[in-house]
Amino acid sequence: MTTPVVTRFAPSPTGSVHLGNARTALFSYLWARKTGGRFILRIEDTDVERSQRRFRDEMIAELQWLRLVWDEGPDVGGPAGPYVQSERGEIYAALFDRLEAQGDAYPCYCRPEELEIARKLQRMAGRPPRYPGTCRGLSAAQRRERAASGVRPTLRFAVPTDRVVEFTDLVHGPQRLQTNDIGDFIVRREDGTASFFFCNAVDDALMGVTHVLRGDDHLANTPRQLLVLDALGLRRPDYGHVGLLVGADGAPLSKRHGSTSVQEFRERGFLGAALLNHLYRLGHTGDLDQWLALPEMPAHFRPEHLGKAPARFDEAQLVHWQKETIARLSPAEVSAWLGAGDDPRVGELLRHNVVLPKDAAPWLAVLRGELPPLGEEERRIVADAGPGFFAAAAAALSESGADLPRFAKLVAARTGRRGAALYMPLRLALTGCAHGPELAPLLAAIGADAARRRLESHAQDP
Ligand code: GLU
Ligand code: ZN
Repeated sequence: MTTPVVTRFAPSPTGSVHLGNARTALFSYLWARKTGGRFILRIEDTDVERSQRRFRDEMIAELQWLRLVWDEGPDVGGPAGPYVQSERGEIYAALFDRLEAQGDAYPCYCRPEELEIARKLQRMAGRPPRYPGTCRGLSAAQRRERAASGVRPTLRFAVPTDRVVEFTDLVHGPQRLQTNDIGDFIVRREDGTASFFFCNAVDDALMGVTHVLRGDDHLANTPRQLLVLDALGLRRPDYGHVGLLVGADGAPLSKRHGSTSVQEFRERGFLGAALLNHLYRLGHTGDLDQWLALPEMPAHFRPEHLGKAPARFDEAQLVHWQKETIARLSPAEVSAWLGAGDDPRVGELLRHNVVLPKDAAPWLAVLRGELPPLGEEERRIVADAGPGFFAAAAAALSESGADLPRFAKLVAARTGRRGAALYMPLRLALTGCAHGPELAPLLAAIGADAARRRLESHAQDP
């Protein structure tokens, strides 16, 4: 029996859901579902300048579209709420006080210019830029003096000296970092808001998160976060840092590669299950060949198979999963997805011919009776069949209805034409194109009346 794990997705509402984030959200969701645990959504919006309510709403809508249902979160609530960090100021304030009272944090009055000068000097001396500890040893009198000058302090965590932070990353294995290599970092910004290092770690602990999966751009942040948790006596979650997503060229996935957000793929007409099937295999290896519906994924998900190598997002792979997904939709669902109402005949007709809804546009036009003009070769084929052929075909259609085998048999019997000589002129009269979906579902989708009119339009002598 596996122990239930508690996971979370903790996006910052500063843009749309990036594919890399959607993937860690998926893995976190699957792990919780696999073990009968809980999946939490937390909005990390303490960066007031970059966070927007609009992005929060959009992110929630994209996650809902992917069907990654959370058990606790801003909209559904839960025992550890609020789940929006900008509403958790009081919780953080009490913890800041505790850190300060314990001597684990202190106010820093350095101005940005002063910090910049210190960084420059360190770089010139060939050392990594780090807070020089200027305010760490200030006396109470010195603090009052700096405060009186009107500077609003930040609060810095007092990193202990001569210690080692150790943890075992679920993906990268054992990690060690000397605390002497970590500068005192900001836990409360000048405007009073909590910094990422602080509230991200603290909230994971307060919300009972047991397993954090995130991109390995956060691996280097983890020791600082562990120091905060240890100082506050809060439980450390296990962290797993998965390899970043890269494009087909191996460079980190960015705008250059085309679409990079869930929203963009949704708007282009990719199906949620297609996206999930591709993301599921990025940096997660195993016997993963077959298409899986989201409810089937948890049983197959193997957290121990998460990799640290960069994973390639490849639109060709996504197209493969898109086709697999379309093949599993009902004809009525395909029609609805194509924006063609709920007529199952349209879905049946186009399901093998489209990857994205835009591919259906020329065929939907044909169904509406907007046929492209015939080319020279096509006009020759129609002329060769001649008006008599089309008159016979129109008459046959009145008897057979839109049933191709019956219809073709009648036309063949009455005109003596077989094979391509029979089907090509029919196809051209019905659709205006020499290529396209199979004729039987085409005829069904066009309908007997419209089809007869198209045949009749070729039944007069030109
Ligand atoms: N808000 C952080 C981000 O979007 C969360 C990182 C994490 O998952 O811990 O990068
Ligand atoms: Zn300072």
